[in-house]
Amino acid sequence: MIADKAAIRILVLDDEPFVLKLHMHMLAGLGFTSVTAHDNAADGLAWVDAAGGPADLILLDLRMPRMDGIEFVRKLVERCYAGSLVLISGEDERVLRMANRLVQAHRIPMLGHIRKPVPLAALAQVMDRWKPASAAQPRNRKAYSGGELRDAIARDELVNHYQPKVNVATGAVAGVEALVRWRHATDGLVLPDEFIPLAEDEGLIDALTRVALTRALADAAAWKQAGLQLRVAINISMDNLASVTFADFVAAAAADAGVASQDIALEVTESRLMLDARAPLEILTRLRLKRFHLSIDDFGTGHSSLSQLQDIAFDELKIDRSFVHGAWRDATVRAMYYTSLGLGMHLGMQVVAEGVEDRDDWDFVRDTGCELAQGYFIARPMPAAELAGWIAAWPEQAVRLRA
Ligand code: C2E
Ligand code: MG
Ligand code: MG
Repeated sequence: MIADKAAIRILVLDDEPFVLKLHMHMLAGLGFTSVTAHDNAADGLAWVDAAGGPADLILLDLRMPRMDGIEFVRKLVERCYAGSLVLISGEDERVLRMANRLVQAHRIPMLGHIRKPVPLAALAQVMDRWKPASAAQPRNRKAYSGGELRDAIARDELVNHYQPKVNVATGAVAGVEALVRWRHATDGLVLPDEFIPLAEDEGLIDALTRVALTRALADAAAWKQAGLQLRVAINISMDNLASVTFADFVAAAAADAGVASQDIALEVTESRLMLDARAPLEILTRLRLKRFHLSIDDFGTGHSSLSQLQDIAFDELKIDRSFVHGAWRDATVRAMYYTSLGLGMHLGMQVVAEGVEDRDDWDFVRDTGCELAQGYFIARPMPAAELAGWIAAWPEQAVRLRA
């Protein structure tokens, strides 16, 4: 709920005077009364520039003669616009999505996009997402230095959490994925997106992967001892595959821990283009010959996913969560999902749907015949010590999901 709707300064831009009136009327009905309207972008911009201070929110028509909505957005960025935006257009869903992406890339908070004619309920829903500029800004990420991360690795501050992968048809727990976290003395649990790129840039990724892999192997050995049959997956950076000694390191570490290569999966994401493809190809081929399970991660988002599939004998394909969550209701997302699933199945790979966040996602994935699923709906990543308890409690929940 928004506390004081009348205080939010709203600008409505649309080239059709009738639509302008209609939108102002709908906004007033919802309690938003500080609304200014203009039927062209130039006047809108002049209003933004005027001494009265900037708008908190702009409802923007994409198609306008002379300056269109896209150009208007660029001018807003030049002015460091700090408010939010709602896109409104008669264009089809995919064009709106494209414009949506552009606005996000400009880092302007987007409350949503609505197709014309605008239904009152859709407008109400989007307006409900409004937050003051300060609250809407993403939490300022703390930039860590290479030295801090190096120390963290040396001081053993990196820990693995584990997220289960389950068989969608039977509910059986097929394995777990190790996801590294930094237990920071003052910042709490720091997620990998905040330090993996740093590790890659600072030449620390080999050290980091060694720590994560060694820990994962120790945990895998302990679970096996406890009678849990789990394949443990670990994430590998493309940069790990630059040095040909990596395959030997992995094989030696698995042997030391007493874990069979078949019980280890290596998830590879192509986050950057490799200048020289020979070393990764050699390492992955050797690991595959040693019977390690190879998985292509975040499928559909990398630089050359298709050619990778052709060159490397992956055992598993993980459909990126952006093509899974919400696929049931979004035709474009669903098309990406089906294409990825079909590719994996045709190539005889195990397919994992990542990002199964709710019951709708789960039902959709199950109905499509995808073998494995992973996501918050099943379980969030958890400390190693919690896994056995989760596995014990899971079957009861899995039975209910089959209903
Ligand atoms: P990933 O390998 O694709 O891992 C899945 C990420 O999605 C994890 O984020 C996980 O917590 C998150 N996730 C799982 N289920 C859901 C869901 O239902 N909804 C949503 N929105 N997210 C979900 P996390 O742990 O923050 O890891 C991010 C990425 O960092 C990983 O993506 C992986 O690429 C990388 N990473 C993690 N651990 C390591 C590591 O040890 N080495 C390397 N090189 N990279 C790692
Ligand atoms: Mg992964
Ligand atoms: Mg992934």
